[in-house]
Amino acid sequence: MRYQHVLLDLDHTLLDTDTSLQMAFGDAMSAVGADPTGVYPTFNDINEALWRRVEAQELTPPRVHVARFVELNEQLGLGVDPQRMADAFAQGMGEHGELYPGAREMLDKLAGMATLALITNGLSGIQRARIERLGIHDHFAAITISAEVGAAKPGTEIFDVAFEALGGPDKSGALMVGDNLGSDIAGGNNAGIDTCWYNPSGKPASAKHPASHTISSLEALLPIVAGQ
Ligand SMILES: [Mg+2]
Repeated sequence: MRYQHVLLDLDHTLLDTDTSLQMAFGDAMSAVGADPTGVYPTFNDINEALWRRVEAQELTPPRVHVARFVELNEQLGLGVDPQRMADAFAQGMGEHGELYPGAREMLDKLAGMATLALITNGLSGIQRARIERLGIHDHFAAITISAEVGAAKPGTEIFDVAFEALGGPDKSGALMVGDNLGSDIAGGNNAGIDTCWYNPSGKPASAKHPASHTISSLEALLPIVAGQ
């Protein structure tokens, strides 16, 4: 095998996070008796902007939890309790969203080829609930969640924690796989390991965050790890 250790992102890489977000948003609005019709794009913009601030290391993931609903309340003038929305949203995020088609089969095969770690910028309760519900816990020798370790991608600290949990493997045989150039690919580059950008929608590449490999389907990861 070309790579003995594969670190995988969860959101938008293995998990259909868009569906998870939209359904959880419906739960959050219902919890305060607000109509979610047509409001999701506004929330999505707020949420994505806050996560970009996490990547810029201006915010921590736990701060995003309520901040997105505080901002939504202000923008829409809802006058409801943002904490109640955030709590319903967090529960919904754990409860909704499936693996992308083919992701489970790919993970089954990959787990037979390399030692796997999950490395995710997310909130502990949400990510743990999803991992449990999806039944993918046993595929991973290490599960590193930013809110649990107090560090997030693209910083090197979260990678240090993951590598320590994997027993300090040789970095030349490690690969970081994810959909996000600013967190996954930049993070892998910062950590000094090879990277594989999962880019199913054909986004333009970035000179700032070059990836060692780019794939448009998850199955394409298997020959890369094998070195074929
Ligand atoms: Mg992702």
